[in-house]
Amino acid sequence: MSKRIAFIGLGNMGAGMAANQAKTGATVAAFDLSADALKHAAEVGCTPATTAAEAVAGADIVITMLPAGVHVRKVYADAVWDNVKPGAILIDCSTTDVDTPRDIAAEAKKRGFRFADAPVSGGQTGAEAGQLAFMVGCAEADFADIDAVLQPMAKAVIRAGDPGAGQAAKICNNMVLGVSMIAVCEAFALAEKLGLDPERFFEISSKSSGQCWSLTTYSPWPGLVPTAPSNRDYQGGFATAMMLKDLKLAQEAAARAGASTPMGGMAESLYALLNTQGAGGRDFSVMLEWLRGKEV
Ligand code: NAD
Repeated sequence: MSKRIAFIGLGNMGAGMAANQAKTGATVAAFDLSADALKHAAEVGCTPATTAAEAVAGADIVITMLPAGVHVRKVYADAVWDNVKPGAILIDCSTTDVDTPRDIAAEAKKRGFRFADAPVSGGQTGAEAGQLAFMVGCAEADFADIDAVLQPMAKAVIRAGDPGAGQAAKICNNMVLGVSMIAVCEAFALAEKLGLDPERFFEISSKSSGQCWSLTTYSPWPGLVPTAPSNRDYQGGFATAMMLKDLKLAQEAAARAGASTPMGGMAESLYALLNTQGAGGRDFSVMLEWLRGKEV
């Protein structure tokens, strides 16, 4: 009998991830608060559920891909604990604070479930292509089974440590991303002011020491990387409000741990300002438009 997966949260990331699970032949009971997201999930081979609880009932595996820790806690409290079947594997792929997975893991252990936090890197394109990098926080003994569940959505699955460690890795990774995107956007804005053709700058920097993911995979300047959100008016992708959330998580974690992260702090301030300009729902690379003095 094929596996039954409950997939909750079918947004920019979850939609592609759920579709890749359905492609393996698994039954994917999908739920999202958005009717459009549910309709799309049905088109890509999932079975839409009318509530999260309905999706979870009878599932061997529960995967959540929600905006933040508060949503994950709510779905677990309202729909997971009372409906999940004994022995199920629970995996949260959302980016959250470190305490959320630690609390859920403790509750899961009490109730006899295996749990992992498994946040991802790779963006919407990676989610659709099944090419995400997963950073996993779970008990060492559970990793092989969790790895097997994640493989259809992954280019890499790496155990970071015990529950919470996946989120620690993700928070640090996204601090790099937030800072590097601003640097790339500033460089394009400066190149333009200096009369340098952005295409030439891209070609040169892609092969020079400025090369990074924000430049070569996710170019904020339109027309250079076909899959980048800059080519669709910065729609979809990774919302500015989500990047701001992650940078706040990094600053909170840094303050608690006594780590010095001045560039991360500056990036948080800049994304907070961009967010107040009304760009919260647009991809975070819209930072370029703002730095160019355009309306966002
Ligand atoms: P999104 O806003 O596009 O999707 C989130 C979905 O969750 C929405 O469709 C929303 O309706 C749904 N939702 C919210 N509360 C719900 C509930 N109680 N029950 C059911 N559905 C609910 O966000 P996204 O871009 O897909 O990001 C999801 C997570 O992945 C976030 O934690 C984000 O930080 C992380 N992430 C995103 C990217 C990216 O490039 N977009 C990359 C890596 C990680």
